[in-house]
Order: sequence, then structure tokens, then C-alpha cells
Amino acid sequence: MINLKEFEVWFVTGSQHLYGDETLRQVAAHSREMAEGLSQARGIPVRVEFKGVVTTPEAIHDVCQQADREPKCVGVVTWMHTFSPAKMWIAGLTSLRKPFLHLHTQYNKELPWSEIDMDFMNLNQSAHGDREFGFIGSRMRLNRKIVVGHWKDEDVQAELGAWTRAASAWHDAQGGKVARFGDNMRDVAVTEGDKVEAQIRLGYSVNGYGVGELVKYVEAVTPAQIDAQIGRYMDEYTVGDALRKDGKQNLTLRESARIELGMRAFLTEGGFHAFTTTFEDLTGLVQLPGIAVQRLMADGYGFGAEGDWKTAALVRAMKVMGAGLTGGTSFMEDYTYHFGGNGMKVLGAHMLEVCASIADAKPSLEAHPLSIGGKADPARLVFNVGSGPAVNATLLDMGNRFRMLVNEVDVVPPDLPMGKLPVARVVWIPRPDLKVAAGAWIAAGGAHHTGFSQVVTRKHLEDFAEIAGIEFLAIGKETNLSEFRKELRWNDMYYALARGL
Ligand code: MN
Repeated sequence: MINLKEFEVWFVTGSQHLYGDETLRQVAAHSREMAEGLSQARGIPVRVEFKGVVTTPEAIHDVCQQADREPKCVGVVTWMHTFSPAKMWIAGLTSLRKPFLHLHTQYNKELPWSEIDMDFMNLNQSAHGDREFGFIGSRMRLNRKIVVGHWKDEDVQAELGAWTRAASAWHDAQGGKVARFGDNMRDVAVTEGDKVEAQIRLGYSVNGYGVGELVKYVEAVTPAQIDAQIGRYMDEYTVGDALRKDGKQNLTLRESARIELGMRAFLTEGGFHAFTTTFEDLTGLVQLPGIAVQRLMADGYGFGAEGDWKTAALVRAMKVMGAGLTGGTSFMEDYTYHFGGNGMKVLGAHMLEVCASIADAKPSLEAHPLSIGGKADPARLVFNVGSGPAVNATLLDMGNRFRMLVNEVDVVPPDLPMGKLPVARVVWIPRPDLKVAAGAWIAAGGAHHTGFSQVVTRKHLEDFAEIAGIEFLAIGKETNLSEFRKELRWNDMYYALARGL
């Protein structure tokens, strides 16, 4: 569903006429070689298209406008091989709506110490040319990513690659559509927010649909379609006898498959990339969607439970950022704690809706009663999650701004098998530890719902927040609670003033 190879970033090199044709020809040849090299770099998932050496305000404005119009272009990479007087960039950068990255690099890696002459000096000027360009970015208060280092270095390519993933997620969000089946879980605060402001700031629209609209799609599913769908379940999961043909839960499974097919048809037809459900409004649905949500997420849909549209859109953005990488991303909830011996840990799970992309092995397909909501037993996939680094991210509406909050965590094995727990689950230790991380998270107003990922990192999310121009806060191994609380106070002041800057 998500293929980043469809996208490209444009590589634009700045210069001026003073250098003469021969130097500009060399600048173009170097730039072409660099763009091709970056395009083939393992760490960069999108194409890098060289779009020429620009030497006049008109050419700069023109390439920026073309970038805005090109649907495949998710962002622009700028680099000043030589000196490009930056007043020439004002009109172009004023009109540019796509994200941009300033690559502060140089064609040559080494100084030719014993051979260096003024010809070399005049050609390789990015050390000061990029400073002139940097000034205009800062003077215009433009959000942008700055990457420093030799273009062939793996860390530079990784930083560029991470930004292209964030830029792709941003591109996906522009015009993106989130469907809400029913409204918010009644009286819950953190899942609410200003949908108009979200569309202005973040680009996606959020609209509600009566569950009855969805039920029409569910009722239109044919028995033959259900049979085929159950065949897929049998291939992909471990399935007990009770759910199989003639088993006592077989009708339950058929209903779950019908709900999945109906939701899929609704979302496909409407062009949605994310959706929410709420167990308080299931009128006409026999079960709370379980396996349906788990499988739709695994196909790249964003999801939020209890009407949580901000998390649904965030999970979708994280799905785009992590596309093609090994590992998964899911809707998640901090569910319950281990405060006992062997370290303080979080058990993350939800009533049903954890994405199968984070399973450590073939999931087990099971049906059990739902302890809340009073509906029929829903089918769900049950699994554990493999150990290793991960993140939890949340997006909050603070009233005058959106705040993204990220906690780096380490997934660990459960102390003992949890054989009686009928839902997918993951155990993690937050960084730097649960005491500091949860203290900081709560001080920042972080939600109980998150986007959890073993592929998307704090860097991807920070780049995304920078592109969006929203507040970004991270909790990691360096976090100190009293410093973090000061950052919250400073940010409150900054965002109160920022509109005037
Ligand atoms: Mn929840």
C-alpha cells in the first residue's frame, strides 16, 4: 500500500554567473554525480533528481514553483557548491511550500594539501557559500533540516534518508483523509482536539460517519467473500479448532471476516488512509472490530481507538516513515505496570487493536469475550513482540498548538509467559527509566494512546515535527526531569510569542 520508490526529492545546486561557463559546467557535473550517488544510497528510500544549477532569482523561483506542482516531489535538497548570493533565494523560498533540506557538504572529501591552488579554492566554496544560504533561511525563519558532512558518508546519507521518510509522511498527510466511525469515547479529553486547526496545520481532514454507513458495507459482503477471507486467515495464522468449520466459534469468525471486508470496502472506496472506532458506538455491528483493525493496520492504515483521530493520523504518518524497513508500527496504549522486582516496566496492549506487523512470530487467531461494551466475542490476533529499541509517540492539542511527544523505550521479554492474556502485548522499559519517563510524559500531558514503532525513530519524528512546524519534545536516556519541566515552561512562552516572530 505504501511504496516510497514512487516519490522523489529534487537536488538543486545554487551558484552565480561570476564563475564563468567552465566552472559552472564542472559544478553541474559534480552535482549530477552526487544526486545519482545519493539516489542509489541504501539509506535513502526515494529517488534523488538533479534539477540543475540555478544562478538567477528567476531560475530559483521557477524551480521552487515546479517542485510545488510536481506530485511525486516530496521535498527539495539545496546545496551551494560555490557562492550564491542569497537575496536571489528570497522569492523562491517565499513561494516554496514543500519541505526543504540544506545539505552542507562538499564534492571533495579530502583537501589536496600539496596540490591545492586558487582554482580548487574557487570551485569548492560550500564552507562559506552554504553559510550565506543558511543566513537567509534563518533570517526568513524557515523550518528546514540541515545536514552536515561528506555526501558519501553513511551517517550523512542516513540523516538525508530519515528526512526523506519524514517528508514522504508529510506529503501523504496533505489531503489525507481520516474516517471516524462514531465519535469520541464520551468524556475523554486527550482524544479530542481542533480538527479544523489540524487540517490547516497538518494537512489531513477528519470527518465522522455514522456506524450505519459502515454497516451497509458489512451487510453487502457475500458468503463466498467470507469463505475466501477465512482461507487467508487459515494460511497466515495459527487457528484453533473452535474457530474452524463446524467449531463452536466458527460463526464468530465469519462475522469478524465480514466486518473486515466491509471496513476495507468502505475505506478503499472513500480513499481513506486512517480511521477510528469507538466501542461506545457499534450500533448495527455485532462485534467490536478486532482482527479487522489489526489487519488493516498491517496493510498501512493508521488507526486510533475510542475516536482518537490524532493518533490514527500519527500512526499512518509513522507507517509511511517506516515503509520498506524490517519491523512494524502499531497503535498502542500504556495498559498496566510491573513495579515489582526485576525492574519497572510497562505492559502495552489494547482491548484488541494491536497491529500484526509487530508480532514476533505467527500470531494466534482466537475469539474471547470482550470485558467492556457488551457486544459479542470478537476474533483477534494474539502475539508477543520481539525485544529491541522502539519509540512511543503522541500528538496533543495544547489549545494554542500541537505538541508531539516521543519516548524512546526498550522492548524486553515478559518475566513469565502470559498464557491467560487474550490480547497482543508488548513489554518495555522506557528510557531513561519508568520513573523519570512517566513523570516527564505526564508533565507534558502525553496521552495514554500512542503510535509505537520498532522502525521509526525519534529522528524521523523530530524531522516530521520540524516540517510541520509543531512543538517537539523527546524523552530519552539523557532526560532530566527538572530540565524537562523547564523546557515545558520555556516552550509555553515561546509558542505564546511565536506568531509574532
Ligand atoms: Mn484506548
